[in-house]
Amino acid sequence: MPVMYPYIQWQELNRQQTRIISHEAKFHEIAPYLDTGLDPVSGQPVLIDLECGVCGHHLDVPRRVSPNDYPDAPLEPLCVLPCGHMMGTHCLDHWIRRADEAWQAPTCPLCRFKLRYTKCKCQMRFREFSPLLPREQQVPLTIPEGGRVDAYCGPCRDRRSETKLREWMDEHLPANAVHGSITRVQETRLQACIGGLARSARTWHRENAPRW
Ligand SMILES: [Zn+2]
Ligand SMILES: [Zn+2]
Ligand SMILES: [Zn+2]
Repeated sequence: MPVMYPYIQWQELNRQQTRIISHEAKFHEIAPYLDTGLDPVSGQPVLIDLECGVCGHHLDVPRRVSPNDYPDAPLEPLCVLPCGHMMGTHCLDHWIRRADEAWQAPTCPLCRFKLRYTKCKCQMRFREFSPLLPREQQVPLTIPEGGRVDAYCGPCRDRRSETKLREWMDEHLPANAVHGSITRVQETRLQACIGGLARSARTWHRENAPRW
Protein backbone atom coordinates (compact mmCIF):
# COMPACT_ATOMS: atom_id res chain seq x y z
CA MET A 1 0.00 0.00 0.00
CA PRO A 2 1.55 3.36 -1.02
CA VAL A 3 2.17 5.74 1.83
CA MET A 4 0.45 9.16 1.75
CA TYR A 5 2.52 12.19 2.62
CA PRO A 6 1.18 15.65 3.45
CA TYR A 7 1.46 17.94 0.39
CA ILE A 8 4.04 20.23 2.02
CA GLN A 9 6.23 17.27 2.85
CA TRP A 10 5.91 15.98 -0.72
CA GLN A 11 7.04 19.34 -2.08
CA GLU A 12 10.04 19.30 0.21
CA LEU A 13 10.91 15.72 -0.74
CA ASN A 14 10.63 16.56 -4.45
CA ARG A 15 12.73 19.68 -4.03
CA GLN A 16 15.55 17.57 -2.57
CA GLN A 17 14.94 14.91 -5.23
CA THR A 18 14.54 12.43 -2.45
CA ARG A 19 14.06 8.84 -3.53
CA ILE A 20 11.48 6.91 -1.57
CA ILE A 21 11.89 3.16 -1.43
CA SER A 22 8.66 1.51 -0.47
CA HIS A 23 8.25 -1.78 -2.27
CA GLU A 24 11.60 -3.52 -2.12
CA ALA A 25 11.40 -6.95 -0.62
CA LYS A 26 15.03 -7.85 -0.11
CA PHE A 27 17.55 -6.42 2.30
CA HIS A 28 20.32 -5.74 -0.23
CA GLU A 29 17.98 -3.28 -1.97
CA ILE A 30 17.92 -1.02 1.09
CA ALA A 31 21.24 -1.91 2.77
CA PRO A 32 23.41 0.67 0.89
CA TYR A 33 21.33 3.56 2.29
CA LEU A 34 20.73 2.53 5.87
CA ASP A 35 23.90 3.93 7.42
CA THR A 36 24.03 7.27 5.58
CA GLY A 37 20.52 7.96 4.29
CA LEU A 38 22.13 8.88 0.95
CA ASP A 39 22.46 7.17 -2.40
CA PRO A 40 26.22 6.46 -2.65
CA VAL A 41 26.19 7.10 -6.43
CA SER A 42 23.98 10.19 -6.82
CA GLY A 43 24.40 11.56 -3.29
CA GLN A 44 20.64 12.13 -3.14
CA PRO A 45 18.69 11.51 0.05
CA VAL A 46 16.85 8.21 0.27
CA LEU A 47 13.88 7.43 2.46
CA ILE A 48 12.82 3.89 3.20
CA ASP A 49 9.21 3.16 3.98
CA LEU A 50 8.50 -0.54 4.23
CA GLU A 51 5.57 -2.46 5.57
CA CYS A 52 5.48 -5.92 7.05
CA GLY A 53 4.18 -8.17 4.27
CA VAL A 54 2.02 -10.05 6.76
CA CYS A 55 0.34 -7.46 8.98
CA GLY A 56 0.98 -4.17 7.14
CA HIS A 57 2.68 -2.42 10.07
CA HIS A 58 5.50 -0.03 9.21
CA LEU A 59 8.90 -1.62 9.70
CA ASP A 60 11.33 0.16 11.98
CA VAL A 61 14.27 1.67 10.05
CA PRO A 62 16.93 4.15 11.25
CA ARG A 63 15.58 7.68 11.77
CA ARG A 64 17.84 9.10 9.05
CA VAL A 65 15.99 7.12 6.37
CA SER A 66 12.58 7.11 7.99
CA PRO A 67 10.06 9.41 6.26
CA ASN A 68 7.74 9.85 9.21
CA ASP A 69 7.74 9.49 12.91
CA TYR A 70 4.46 7.58 12.75
CA PRO A 71 3.15 8.97 16.04
CA ASP A 72 0.02 6.80 15.88
CA ALA A 73 0.93 3.91 13.61
CA PRO A 74 2.41 0.81 15.25
CA LEU A 75 6.01 0.07 14.26
CA GLU A 76 7.24 -3.48 13.97
CA PRO A 77 10.94 -4.37 14.31
CA LEU A 78 12.39 -5.32 10.95
CA CYS A 79 13.87 -8.75 10.63
CA VAL A 80 16.29 -10.03 7.97
CA LEU A 81 16.57 -13.64 6.83
CA PRO A 82 19.62 -15.19 5.12
CA CYS A 83 17.67 -15.29 1.81
CA GLY A 84 17.48 -11.49 2.07
CA HIS A 85 13.74 -11.28 2.70
CA MET A 86 12.53 -8.84 5.32
CA MET A 87 9.40 -8.77 7.42
CA GLY A 88 8.14 -7.84 10.84
CA THR A 89 9.81 -9.75 13.66
CA HIS A 90 6.53 -10.43 15.47
CA CYS A 91 4.92 -11.93 12.37
CA LEU A 92 7.94 -14.07 11.55
CA ASP A 93 8.09 -15.26 15.15
CA HIS A 94 4.42 -16.22 14.96
CA TRP A 95 4.98 -18.00 11.60
CA ILE A 96 7.88 -20.03 13.00
CA ARG A 97 5.94 -21.00 16.13
CA ARG A 98 3.07 -22.20 13.98
CA ALA A 99 5.45 -24.33 11.89
CA ASP A 100 6.92 -25.73 15.12
CA GLU A 101 3.49 -26.62 16.46
CA ALA A 102 2.70 -28.41 13.19
CA TRP A 103 6.03 -30.29 13.41
CA GLN A 104 7.16 -28.67 10.17
CA ALA A 105 10.60 -27.27 9.42
CA PRO A 106 10.36 -23.46 9.50
CA THR A 107 10.92 -21.71 6.18
CA CYS A 108 10.93 -18.15 4.86
CA PRO A 109 7.24 -17.30 4.28
CA LEU A 110 8.15 -15.64 0.98
CA CYS A 111 10.61 -18.04 -0.73
CA ARG A 112 10.55 -21.18 1.43
CA PHE A 113 14.24 -20.88 2.28
CA LYS A 114 14.81 -23.48 5.02
CA LEU A 115 15.48 -21.83 8.36
CA ARG A 116 17.48 -24.75 9.74
CA TYR A 117 21.24 -25.36 9.53
CA THR A 118 21.90 -28.19 7.11
CA LYS A 119 24.29 -30.20 9.33
CA CYS A 120 23.28 -29.65 12.97
CA LYS A 121 19.58 -29.03 12.14
CA CYS A 122 19.33 -26.30 14.75
CA GLN A 123 16.85 -23.56 13.96
CA MET A 124 18.33 -20.39 12.48
CA ARG A 125 18.37 -17.34 14.68
CA PHE A 126 16.77 -14.56 12.73
CA ARG A 127 18.17 -11.06 12.80
CA GLU A 128 16.09 -8.31 14.25
CA PHE A 129 17.49 -5.14 12.73
CA SER A 130 18.28 -2.49 15.34
CA PRO A 131 17.90 1.02 13.86
CA LEU A 132 20.59 2.18 16.30
CA LEU A 133 23.44 -0.05 15.08
CA PRO A 134 25.35 0.02 11.80
CA ARG A 135 24.52 -2.83 9.46
CA GLU A 136 27.89 -4.58 9.63
CA GLN A 137 27.56 -5.01 13.37
CA GLN A 138 24.32 -6.90 13.15
CA VAL A 139 23.32 -8.36 9.79
CA PRO A 140 25.72 -10.73 8.00
CA LEU A 141 25.83 -10.61 4.19
CA THR A 142 22.62 -12.08 2.83
CA ILE A 143 22.76 -14.75 0.12
CA PRO A 144 21.94 -12.30 -2.75
CA GLU A 145 24.91 -10.22 -1.53
CA GLY A 146 27.24 -13.23 -1.74
CA GLY A 147 26.86 -14.22 1.91
CA ARG A 148 26.83 -17.85 2.94
CA VAL A 149 25.22 -19.81 5.70
CA ASP A 150 27.41 -22.21 7.62
CA ALA A 151 26.30 -25.83 7.90
CA TYR A 152 26.40 -25.50 11.71
CA CYS A 153 24.93 -22.89 14.04
CA GLY A 154 27.23 -20.76 16.24
CA PRO A 155 27.02 -22.87 19.44
CA CYS A 156 27.51 -26.12 17.44
CA ARG A 157 30.50 -24.55 15.64
CA ASP A 158 32.00 -23.57 19.02
CA ARG A 159 31.46 -27.07 20.43
CA ARG A 160 33.11 -28.58 17.36
CA SER A 161 36.14 -26.26 17.64
CA GLU A 162 36.46 -27.08 21.34
CA THR A 163 36.36 -30.80 20.59
CA LYS A 164 38.98 -30.36 17.88
CA LEU A 165 41.18 -28.37 20.27
CA ARG A 166 40.87 -31.06 22.94
CA GLU A 167 41.80 -33.76 20.42
CA TRP A 168 44.76 -31.66 19.35
CA MET A 169 45.91 -31.28 22.98
CA ASP A 170 45.46 -35.00 23.69
CA GLU A 171 47.58 -35.77 20.68
CA HIS A 172 50.35 -33.28 21.43
CA LEU A 173 50.52 -33.27 25.23
CA PRO A 174 51.41 -36.24 27.40
CA ALA A 175 48.62 -37.08 29.83
CA ASN A 176 51.03 -37.13 32.80
CA ALA A 177 52.54 -33.66 32.26
CA VAL A 178 52.73 -32.20 35.80
CA HIS A 179 54.22 -28.83 36.66
CA GLY A 180 57.92 -29.18 37.46
CA SER A 181 58.19 -32.66 36.05
CA ILE A 182 57.92 -32.08 32.34
CA THR A 183 60.81 -32.80 30.05
CA ARG A 184 62.25 -30.50 27.41
CA VAL A 185 60.26 -32.29 24.71
CA GLN A 186 57.06 -31.97 26.68
CA GLU A 187 57.75 -28.29 27.31
CA THR A 188 58.22 -27.71 23.58
CA ARG A 189 54.89 -29.41 22.95
CA LEU A 190 53.24 -27.33 25.63
CA GLN A 191 54.56 -24.14 24.02
CA ALA A 192 53.23 -25.33 20.67
CA CYS A 193 49.86 -25.93 22.30
CA ILE A 194 49.77 -22.43 23.79
CA GLY A 195 50.67 -21.10 20.33
CA GLY A 196 47.77 -23.07 18.86
CA LEU A 197 45.38 -21.63 21.44
CA ALA A 198 46.52 -18.09 20.71
CA ARG A 199 46.05 -18.68 16.98
CA SER A 200 42.53 -19.96 17.44
CA ALA A 201 41.71 -16.99 19.70
CA ARG A 202 42.94 -14.63 16.95
CA THR A 203 40.86 -16.46 14.35
CA TRP A 204 37.87 -16.22 16.65
CA HIS A 205 38.24 -12.45 16.93
CA ARG A 206 38.74 -12.06 13.19
CA GLU A 207 35.67 -14.11 12.42
CA ASN A 208 33.58 -12.58 15.12
CA ALA A 209 31.76 -10.38 12.63
CA PRO A 210 28.06 -11.38 12.60
CA ARG A 211 27.43 -14.75 10.97
CA TRP A 212 24.22 -16.55 10.24
ZN1 LIG B 1 3.92 -7.93 10.85
ZN1 LIG C 1 13.03 -15.68 1.58
ZN1 LIG D 1 23.44 -26.24 15.93
